[in-house]
Amino acid sequence: MSEEEKKETLGSKLFYKTKNVWETTENHAEIMNFAKPYKTFLDKCKTEREAVAWAAKKLEDAGFKTPGNGDKIFMVNRGKAVIAARLGKKPIKEGFNIVVSHVDAPRLDLKQVPFYEDSGHAMLDTHYYGGIKKYQWANIPLAMHGRIIKADGSKIDLVWGENENEGSLLIPDILIHLAQKQMEGSAAKALTGEQMNAIAGTIPIPGKEYEKESDKVKLNVLKILNDKYGITEADFVSAEIELVPSENCREIGIDNSCIIGYGHDDRICSYSALQALLDMKEQPERTAIAYLVDKEEIGSEGTTGAITKFLEYFIEKVASSCDITEIMQNSFCMSGDVNAGYDVNFKENFETKNASFLGKGITITKFTGRGGKGGANDASAEFMGAIRKLLSDSNVVFQTAELGAVDIGGGGTVAMYFAARGIDTIDAGPAVLGMHAPKETISKADLFSTYQAYKTFLDKFAGEYVKIAKNTN
Ligand code: MN
Ligand code: MN
Repeated sequence: MSEEEKKETLGSKLFYKTKNVWETTENHAEIMNFAKPYKTFLDKCKTEREAVAWAAKKLEDAGFKTPGNGDKIFMVNRGKAVIAARLGKKPIKEGFNIVVSHVDAPRLDLKQVPFYEDSGHAMLDTHYYGGIKKYQWANIPLAMHGRIIKADGSKIDLVWGENENEGSLLIPDILIHLAQKQMEGSAAKALTGEQMNAIAGTIPIPGKEYEKESDKVKLNVLKILNDKYGITEADFVSAEIELVPSENCREIGIDNSCIIGYGHDDRICSYSALQALLDMKEQPERTAIAYLVDKEEIGSEGTTGAITKFLEYFIEKVASSCDITEIMQNSFCMSGDVNAGYDVNFKENFETKNASFLGKGITITKFTGRGGKGGANDASAEFMGAIRKLLSDSNVVFQTAELGAVDIGGGGTVAMYFAARGIDTIDAGPAVLGMHAPKETISKADLFSTYQAYKTFLDKFAGEYVKIAKNTN
């Protein structure tokens, strides 16, 4: 059968088939090369503050300025969120295209009074951030990243445990030999929240002058930190210190197709959205915005989460006299977040027709939520149709999926918070294996496809696509 004949089979006309990105192009080098700086970004940016500082630097280098100074602008919100925009040819009144992603990731935060000594160990007490399988965070090297405000109000940015001269921290798990009770219980209780204490040292402070001191191991650790940073135990009261995996990411697969690393959820979308905006050569028709938010993993709350009015604040700076509600009604949002990658070892948790597969391109998710779509944005058929046509016209490989099989669990994204503003919103991001584990895995093909999709959306979602999305009568 010739190629022409194959194309004309009835099945090829009527069946829906997804594509494998690697099979749609012979230019695998382009995909592989795109992943290299992403890996560096992931290794360098392990907290929301670090990701935002990195983004701000990239934007500054590319000539982005504060609102009121040209058509490439950005604003940072409290060091933990950032909005960047390319103003469009059309007035902002006609709306904007925005990709929102989050830069926070599950981790272990130090408590405000974290230090104690127990049986010759200096320990650090934590409170986990976001939804995690706690036991996964044991027996891996952890680094401390964060900010401390000292008694005099001055600030210290602390990073400890990333290089070979600085020991990492460790939450030990009980050895299998003595784990009979643990192994009989549920995985949820294998390690409890209050057992998540990290070992920070085991050497009592040396020197005759300290002979009469108590808690000598804890004192030694505090002295090491004091010598380097000038900080005391009390300074941790006014600090945000996050324990994150200290190892860098690396390739997975004999074919080098995937990357394992900390924080793909959701820095893969943040990186892709920002890169898409930075790579935009010409002024777009409609204003294009990349918004990196904080606090998604704990419900999008707070002054740096999706719920806050920082987007409105930014728009008001862009258009001094404007009807903000009307602008929102005319706008479109890609909620850039990851989906649950199909796991061949846990097939029963997925429904294969509507699952997100590694290598099949960005996943468009009409709705997230759990049990009967609870807490979902649920994009309209019209907006789905407009996005489908846009991606097809631009040859971006995509798939659609739900977050797992029905009634298995579920999850949410920032989508609902932008839909609540009156913005037509759709979830779009790559598949991730082992989401919320200390190390997650993604496909380089999906990273590339995600970048392409965001770029196309920011660049080209105008005219006929807007008409399709708004044709709801
Ligand atoms: Mn996420
Ligand atoms: Mn998440």
